[in-house]
Amino acid sequence: MMYSTMKTPGSMDNTMTAVVADANGDIFDLEGYAAVGMSGNYLEVLTASETLPMPHGSELMFLPDRIPIVFNLMTDQFETLAENPYQPGEPLFPVAVFNSPAYVNTATCAYEEEDFADYLPLFSYGAVGWHQDGFCSAVIKVDEEPRQDLRLMKMEDVHAGIQRMRKSLPDNRLRAHLEKCALEYGCPAAKNFFIGRCEAPLPTSRTCNARCIGCISLQKDLPIKSPQNRISFTPSPEEISGVALAHLNQVKQGIVSFGQGCEGDPLMAAHVIGPAIAQIRSKTGNGTINMNTNGSLPDVLSGLFDQGLDSIRISMNSARKDLYTAYYRPVNYRFEDVEAGIDTALRKQKRVTINYLNCPGVTDSPEETDAFHDFLKRHPVDLIQWRNLNFDPFRYWTTMSQAVSLGEPLGMKNLLTGIRERFPKIRFGYFNPPKERFEQAFDVHGK
Ligand code: SF4
Repeated sequence: MMYSTMKTPGSMDNTMTAVVADANGDIFDLEGYAAVGMSGNYLEVLTASETLPMPHGSELMFLPDRIPIVFNLMTDQFETLAENPYQPGEPLFPVAVFNSPAYVNTATCAYEEEDFADYLPLFSYGAVGWHQDGFCSAVIKVDEEPRQDLRLMKMEDVHAGIQRMRKSLPDNRLRAHLEKCALEYGCPAAKNFFIGRCEAPLPTSRTCNARCIGCISLQKDLPIKSPQNRISFTPSPEEISGVALAHLNQVKQGIVSFGQGCEGDPLMAAHVIGPAIAQIRSKTGNGTINMNTNGSLPDVLSGLFDQGLDSIRISMNSARKDLYTAYYRPVNYRFEDVEAGIDTALRKQKRVTINYLNCPGVTDSPEETDAFHDFLKRHPVDLIQWRNLNFDPFRYWTTMSQAVSLGEPLGMKNLLTGIRERFPKIRFGYFNPPKERFEQAFDVHGK
């Protein structure tokens, strides 16, 4: 694989030490070598000034069947280092970081695949280095809210909440399903429902009209396991409104959201969601009813807005039709339908968020940057959630670069700065805001 070097810093004082692992998975820093980040097929030496201390709750991951790319401070060269230079014969492996929510990757872990390598599981693989006694991640913080901060989500509170909800919603299958989500999948939204804070999930749909290559609830074509199974039943409007009201009646500025990782797309279940929203709004005006969706059915959306849906979050990996289609592989809809879904919401003055699935090298390519600027000009949404795409970064870049041209990346920081300057009204974040805070601007710009 031919790599192009993007950036080597003026002075090496500000670099970070490379972090690698041995065959036992023991992780260590490699003196004499600087940490490197990858954006598509571009390499850059990471600097301490362009990184943050690794966020609490992030996880380091050892990458099998791959060789780390590091920067040799003696020879001033990038090197694909298969063996530990201090222990000849000992193989080395790359180490990536799965950063906590609210942090967007600016570079992915730099490595070269072995010929026999298989797809990596569905996580994001951020670049990490060692600096001044700590791990540092190549990230930008995009949201201050501690909504999924594990320190605030104690398991004893989750268990207590499960007992409470079993009493108040004894025969509710959706309540029972969320127990599995909280305990087996470790879903932060399901945990928050039982703890009684922030945003609760309302999974409803067994099907989807997209076939995303990185779908986390159904994998058919690629040798990748989906981390969750799709919900196996369609909850009734009464079961949905029961769970929603249990949350909105106890949580200040509470949010309930359709469209979770353990289901297809909620627009496929509008026949139960519509009546459920009407039931919720007949009982309370509290809280925000949100939908995370691929936004592909504008007429269905229009009906749900009329029944009381407050806000939508539309997921997309690109503002370029070819790149979107290569990832979402839509069935009986086109990218233009997603744009029409957004325009329907804006026309009805509903809140619209773009859930922008980010992968450095693709998202910050000049072509994608231009297309996204043009998209935001035509569809002035309220908020961009900068999300890390949970997919093998090298395989994603390879697949996408076969679909479209991808020039030298501009850098994620430049991408965010450019959008901030050109679209000052559009906010950046990571979590769905409650309607009480729709107006509040929250914006972290770089460090
Ligand atoms: S839109 Fe969601 S549920 Fe549908 S295929 Fe994509 S990730 Fe899966």
